[in-house]
Amino acid sequence: MKFSNRAMQVKPSATVGVSNRAKAMIRNGIDVINLGIGEPDFTTPKVIATAAIDAIQHGKTSFYTPASGLPDLKRAIVDRIQADYHVNYAPEQISVTNGAKMALYVIMQALVDNGDEVLMPKPSWVSYSQQVSLAGGTPILVDTNAEFKITTDSLNRVVNDHTRLLVINSPQNPTGTVYSKAELQTIGQWAVDHHVLLIADDIYGKLVYNETKFYSLIQCGKQIAKSTILVNGVSKAYSMTGWRIGYVAAVPEIISKINAILSHSTGNPATVSQYAAIAAFRSDQTEVETMRQAFEKRLNTIYPLLQQVPGFHIEQKPEGAFYLFPNVEEAMNIVGVDTSSQLVELLLNEAHVAVVDGGAFGMSDYLRLSYATGMEDLKIAVKRINTFMTHYL
Ligand code: PLP
Repeated sequence: MKFSNRAMQVKPSATVGVSNRAKAMIRNGIDVINLGIGEPDFTTPKVIATAAIDAIQHGKTSFYTPASGLPDLKRAIVDRIQADYHVNYAPEQISVTNGAKMALYVIMQALVDNGDEVLMPKPSWVSYSQQVSLAGGTPILVDTNAEFKITTDSLNRVVNDHTRLLVINSPQNPTGTVYSKAELQTIGQWAVDHHVLLIADDIYGKLVYNETKFYSLIQCGKQIAKSTILVNGVSKAYSMTGWRIGYVAAVPEIISKINAILSHSTGNPATVSQYAAIAAFRSDQTEVETMRQAFEKRLNTIYPLLQQVPGFHIEQKPEGAFYLFPNVEEAMNIVGVDTSSQLVELLLNEAHVAVVDGGAFGMSDYLRLSYATGMEDLKIAVKRINTFMTHYL
């Protein structure tokens, strides 16, 4: 079979891959604890589910909405941005998409040409680089400092005439890094000065812990906000990964191009999900806070336990999202394997714990463990990893 050059370049998602394998083992009766997954384990809050049920019962299902989303949903998003970020957008500045993943995909399709370069931190979420390649561009992983943050020094080393976009993801998957307002201001100004557009992937924005404050590039003044394409959605904060609602907020010029692409590709996201998202954005946010507190408790419990595992070193305590990203170079030496992906295999097959190889995020010698799993399972999983490692000492 002859495939397109684009298709030949794309690699299947490692995070989805490991998670599917773990799920298959569980279906076959093997007691695997899945820390590979990037989805909250909470059920979607009732007020949101009820809005969707009402939409079905009132027949709000048998029509297409505008490809870029229901006007009421766009108004709910604009109001949510105003409440959360204190920044004003107009409904014409919003496109609703099938999850934040599609939001990012369509941005790349709208803005990236053959030969364009898109900067992103090393490490960063698996899909950015693949989406850039699918658009014909070149992903450039930018070195980060000891806190896993991009600095203007590292940006100066890679910028050139082909640089088109810079992706900032704070809190960051897979490290849980959160940028301060001053850091965002500096990076944002650098981008403005170099005529580089910014993507603020704020999907984990509501999940910050232990007094850490969340800021976004859109809060760094008018000029930076104008150069920023905001991506957010309901998956992580409202425990709605399965509903597939995300959005883009940007200047109208970018939005109308995105809307044209959406109208010929996905069409509108599921109408029922859009009604659910209206309820999510308009809800009083108490359930978001309850879930945030649960994640915080898990982080504070599991972080010290994982640090005690022989050969596992967490260089920075995460401040947001729901991942831990230990360096496992020493663990690889102890076990006698050459790569972190071999360690992933052993952990899955022998310790029955699924984790993701850091190589998927551009940094081998690391693992990503998600704590979007119940506390008891988390404790058991870390115990299993500890027992597995101790066995090799
Ligand atoms: N951005 C980041 C950094 C993510 O980790 C994810 C999901 O794992 C997404 C975007 C996409 O989220 P969704 O498509 O579920 O809204």
